[in-house]
Amino acid sequence: MAGIYIHIPFCKQACFYCDFHFSTSLKKKEQMIFALIKELEIRKNEFKTKEVATIYFGGGTPSILTVTEIKRLIAAVYDNYKVVANPEITLEANPDDLSEEIIVAFSKSPINRLSIGVQSFFEKDLKLMNRAHNATEAKNCLSLASRYFKNISIDLIYGIPDCSHQEWLINIQTALSFGVQHISSYALTVEPKTALASFIKKGIIKNVDDEKSEEQFHILLDTLEAEGFIHYELSNFGKEGFFSKNNSSYWLGKPYLGIGPSAHSFNGLERSWNVKSNAKYIAEIAANNLPSVKEVLTKTDCYNEYIMTGLRTIWGVSLEKVEQDFGFRYREYLEKEAQKYIAQELLYIENGILKATQKGKFLSDGIASNLFILN
Ligand code: SF4
Repeated sequence: MAGIYIHIPFCKQACFYCDFHFSTSLKKKEQMIFALIKELEIRKNEFKTKEVATIYFGGGTPSILTVTEIKRLIAAVYDNYKVVANPEITLEANPDDLSEEIIVAFSKSPINRLSIGVQSFFEKDLKLMNRAHNATEAKNCLSLASRYFKNISIDLIYGIPDCSHQEWLINIQTALSFGVQHISSYALTVEPKTALASFIKKGIIKNVDDEKSEEQFHILLDTLEAEGFIHYELSNFGKEGFFSKNNSSYWLGKPYLGIGPSAHSFNGLERSWNVKSNAKYIAEIAANNLPSVKEVLTKTDCYNEYIMTGLRTIWGVSLEKVEQDFGFRYREYLEKEAQKYIAQELLYIENGILKATQKGKFLSDGIASNLFILN
């Protein structure tokens, strides 16, 4: 099974914290759709022997496209690839794009999963992050979307300066009140060269507080687990049967094609990524060139990635798999290095699987990088 990710590199306005690739100018929208369709055609042989189980529209803001434009892209996938019956087809959408008319039209299209970028239900948080929607739009769109879609994920951000623990709990409870099946939740991080980084430097916005973020992560974990959500990846919680199939296959090392500017691909041996410029991407694709750079993964790269994704997910790190795929020395190294985290109750081993404890989950990225082998 394999997945196709399609990057829609346009947004209405720039959120202050964002370092994804997008443009706020829609001038090249039609040319971009044409190029995306052409890249799907050019790369069809990469998936000659694979069946596509998931199609994911990410961005940027895919809901900036019309339903007809999204359907053209889905049709191009079906025209060029073997697609399983009932694939998971996700559209990332922002609340300000989702009127009832549009939600109904998407519900009649092959899209069967919505991932809605709510981030917060508080006006002050949305303003601080320069989101394009307001709190009323977030609530209205969720109450409409839940009438037409049975598989909805929402994004929430924790650790926002001046968002108290009480307000964070209200955010989670408000999300739950709409009966969503999945929540993705990330700590607000200050990426270099973003507007947020510059405002913090100038003292216009308070810096994020890591301790507060960790406390809010635990509020999230406790609240969602008590509501029957399974914490299956560091930032992802789903009801049984509602894990993101697309993202789970990334974490389980399955191949995927990333279509569009800045999109990444993985074929089991190599990673590649497309140029991060709409103009260059369109020009290169028009000239039948794939504007991408490739990296062949070494055995050690693959080991490091497995440790990182394994500790972030419910599936953990199988010691037997480490030995089989990478050799006894890798296993020996891992078991030795993991001991200090096991002693601190941050990791544990159960049935030969190394996992993060509740206490260790928030720290799993840092722990994983200390278990890496350096090339
Ligand atoms: S809508 Fe998403 S991709 Fe666009 S600027 Fe905001 S966070 Fe970034």
